[in-house]
Amino acid sequence: MKAVVLADGNRVEVAEVPDARIQRSTDALVRMTVAAICMTDVHIKNGHIPGIAPGTVIGHEFVGVVEEVGSAVTSVKPGDRVDSIPAVSCGVCPACRAATPQNCPELSMYGGGEAMAPMGNDGVQAELVRVPLADLALCAIPDNVPDEQGVLIGDMLSTGYHAANEARIQTGDAVVVSGCGPVGLCAILAAWQFGPRQVFAIDMFDNRLAVAEQFGAVPIDLRAGDPVEQVLAATGGRGADAVLEASGNSKAFQSAIRMIRRFGTVSCVGLFEDPVEFPINTLIYHGVKVVMSLGNLSHVPRLMDLAKHGRVDVSPIATHAFALDEAVAAYDLFENHKDQCLKVLLKP
Ligand SMILES: [Zn+2]
Ligand SMILES: [Zn+2]
Repeated sequence: MKAVVLADGNRVEVAEVPDARIQRSTDALVRMTVAAICMTDVHIKNGHIPGIAPGTVIGHEFVGVVEEVGSAVTSVKPGDRVDSIPAVSCGVCPACRAATPQNCPELSMYGGGEAMAPMGNDGVQAELVRVPLADLALCAIPDNVPDEQGVLIGDMLSTGYHAANEARIQTGDAVVVSGCGPVGLCAILAAWQFGPRQVFAIDMFDNRLAVAEQFGAVPIDLRAGDPVEQVLAATGGRGADAVLEASGNSKAFQSAIRMIRRFGTVSCVGLFEDPVEFPINTLIYHGVKVVMSLGNLSHVPRLMDLAKHGRVDVSPIATHAFALDEAVAAYDLFENHKDQCLKVLLKP
């Protein structure tokens, strides 16, 4: 089968690899219909995540059609359209039972190599994908949710929703989303589910601010001046009740803790590339809660239900699609933010 594999020299390439196949009775084999490129894949390509050998099939965001199931799989059958969570957990350990599967010691990200895929699950940017523990990993896609939308629910929307959920947004709150990349844009849609009065969206690119506005947010353009002053002016000097930090920019974090009201919450899901100054005494004096984590995979089925009932539509985030054969060009476009791309899809 054809697949995107990690190559030497901080590259990916499209290669012919052995077909994925069922290995255990709890596996499913899924024929990929749409996969998405994630910034994590770019980090893997550039060698920032150790323990992934050249030749490894990469990618962890995909949807497809079940081709075959192991004898112990009961929740899906051949022909079903399915979305997978990006990393599979065991389902039975204390963390999984507490609905915090991201803390599972067996957590196994597709294409994560020895370091991050203890279940040996290969990446999903391939014609066929072996899904371990299929009853836990897969979620049926409702008929009225297209693949191009479903593929953004398992990782992008679930991370954005996690940011909003951890911020404990209350009805009538003023929420700020910092950074309008794919996760930040999903965080805007997620924030609305909690009944805020306003959502403000900070960025400095017209195309991102345009989608933020399409999602009902008030755009705050970094090029127009200090975002803290803009948020304070828009909230009668009170500040935001919650800031969802999705930019991973250390300056943006400093802005977040200056625009949050006392006893508000800053919820961080963007990974920071630079060290972050943490003014702990100010945060203590002001009772500001800073929460941070990557996501919670247990939200995916309820998010799929929101999509089914038209309460979220993430499809404007999928700006580009390439054939799997053209994955190298797709990675270049995505990594270098060319052609105003937000999220780049791959189709066999
Ligand atoms: Zn991802
Ligand atoms: Zn577990």
